[in-house]
Amino acid sequence: MSPLPAYKDHYPNDYSACSGCSLCLLICPVWREKRDLRHTAQGRAKAFQHGARPEDIGNALFSCAMCGSCNTICPEGIDLKGALASLRRDLKDGRIAAIIKKLISDNNRPAMEIPKGKAVFLPGINLGESRERIERITALIGHGKGILIADYDGWDIGLAFEAGVDMPVGRLERFLDSLRGVKHIVVGDGIMKRILRLHLPGVKVTGIGEELSSLDVVKKRLLPTDLYVIESRSYNIDFKTLSRHYDRLRKDCRCAFNLDLHMVAVPTTATSMHRLLEMEGIDSREQARWILKGRDVKRIVVESMDDGRAFMDVTDIPVVHLADIV
Ligand code: SF4
Ligand code: SF4
Repeated sequence: MSPLPAYKDHYPNDYSACSGCSLCLLICPVWREKRDLRHTAQGRAKAFQHGARPEDIGNALFSCAMCGSCNTICPEGIDLKGALASLRRDLKDGRIAAIIKKLISDNNRPAMEIPKGKAVFLPGINLGESRERIERITALIGHGKGILIADYDGWDIGLAFEAGVDMPVGRLERFLDSLRGVKHIVVGDGIMKRILRLHLPGVKVTGIGEELSSLDVVKKRLLPTDLYVIESRSYNIDFKTLSRHYDRLRKDCRCAFNLDLHMVAVPTTATSMHRLLEMEGIDSREQARWILKGRDVKRIVVESMDDGRAFMDVTDIPVVHLADIV
């Protein structure tokens, strides 16, 4: 039997396809901070090619920020992020599972009543506390046709997926049942794109970054002296279409972006589970400093307030959410 994890149902290649090209190291924030191959996609690929088991890699599986940049750049088409999620599920870290269980306070949450054919907004937790911002986003992306804000946005389902923890029986199904038949789902948390696409293949799922930055009213307010920070999880999962979208935006607005030479969005890692679970993770402030290095910008515009907070911690340059520039 193959020692490689079974996550091939949805993606073409697994770790056995790794050629050792090291491109994933160049963009990995964990490699940048730790310089330790065990914590990287390439390191995991090599370990499994040589017969390692998940428990041999152990805690190193939990340092990944799930930014998805390695998926985007891997020339062998390996679903490195999906592989990691499978490995975390296989390893089942009891401490993390216990913390998440505590966070999932209400397992009896009923299914939401969302009319079929509607558009729905799942804000997620990285937009910050501001209800006003959530309502402004809803008004902006509703295009006058209306979009409902979901009572429950599945934030803990995204967190459990990232941590490799199984949700209580029925919880995921009730959430998905509420959304069956809707026309369009807009998510604030990029990780939800992956979960929803997997389970609701016929439904259009987009992120708030691409939705807001497509609007003329928003584009007009972006300035050549801005640094626009793309939320990496949402971007990387739709790299082919969104790299074109942001390239056009860059030409139109002439602002700077957190994109590297390969058009990969450089993550702050602030959206990862580590902050929420109070675990040791990559220092997102150091990533923010690195993104800012050598730039002369007057304002930082973010799609995720988690990214925003990482910048606020390291600079006096004003930081503003994309929805708040209108
Ligand atoms: S998902 Fe991001 S943090 Fe994790 S291994 Fe890939 S590039 Fe590194
Ligand atoms: S980018 Fe892909 S093929 Fe290259 S080292 Fe990383 S996992 Fe292997």
